[in-house]
Amino acid sequence: MKNAIFYQLKLSTWTKYICLFAPLIFIAGLILAATLFAQQQTSPPPLTIERVRDNIYLIRGGSGANCYFIAGQKSNLLVDAKMTPDSFQEMLAEIQKISAKPLGLIILTHSDGDHVNGLRGLSQKVRLLAHRKTYEEMLPAVEQTPELKDILPSETYEDILVLEFEGTRLELKNFGPAHTSGDTIIFIPVSQVAITGDLMFYGRDPLIHKHKNGTFFGYLKTLQAMLDYRPEIEIFLSGHAEPVGRQEVAGLLDSLKEKEARVRQMIEQGRTLDEIKSAFGVPTPPPGSPVRRPPLVEIIYQEITEKK
Ligand SMILES: [Zn+2]
Repeated sequence: MKNAIFYQLKLSTWTKYICLFAPLIFIAGLILAATLFAQQQTSPPPLTIERVRDNIYLIRGGSGANCYFIAGQKSNLLVDAKMTPDSFQEMLAEIQKISAKPLGLIILTHSDGDHVNGLRGLSQKVRLLAHRKTYEEMLPAVEQTPELKDILPSETYEDILVLEFEGTRLELKNFGPAHTSGDTIIFIPVSQVAITGDLMFYGRDPLIHKHKNGTFFGYLKTLQAMLDYRPEIEIFLSGHAEPVGRQEVAGLLDSLKEKEARVRQMIEQGRTLDEIKSAFGVPTPPPGSPVRRPPLVEIIYQEITEKK
């Protein structure tokens, strides 16, 4: 009996220890998992360079969007600038391994941070070219933080700019607001390649920045203009998708038009925005939840109803 009581006492002490430490072990596990997750999030994928066609190269990885460079005889032309100074500098070092020439010109496809913020790592004066609206969209951030002034484009253009880059003719075009208000498509006719910034999303909805005056109908117009360009473009390069061909661009355009037609039809049937969103499987956030970027269906709805 005595032994049984002793055993009971012992067991209850162990139970106490387990009750005390189990939550602590659980919390420590959570902290460890969160730290590992954060590390995974903060260490960007490795930077790699791949030749696309002729002297045009794709730079994947690092922090920020895909960038591109065109290797010239005397200098290199860079398109977009990654998101952090570290990734930007690492990118310049990797480019040097392929084409050990000075950086002659940088073209920014638009003003988003994942395409321009790496410019803080720029240590020399370089010609920096972008659409006028991209300059305007970058200006408020620079005015708030004067040390960012060197990331502002040094040259801007309006609708079209024809550029001779060491014998290669480039055409920079803006077809009006689409992803943002200052998107530049760089056409390289001799190679039948276009660098399109964030005009090409594949396998997911395109992003349209309403806060930068981007528009859905402008996005459609720009995709069509990319297809209509002559000589025919064969390879379309972009910030967040793999290189694609005409079929993929046409497929994206068709799927967007189809979405527009469905939204338009539901509006005509008198369906509300919430009903349309739920028909597309877009969840309605609970009241009071933080304001998020409107989903594409909502942007289409707004633009159709605004036009009426
Ligand atoms: Zn973007």
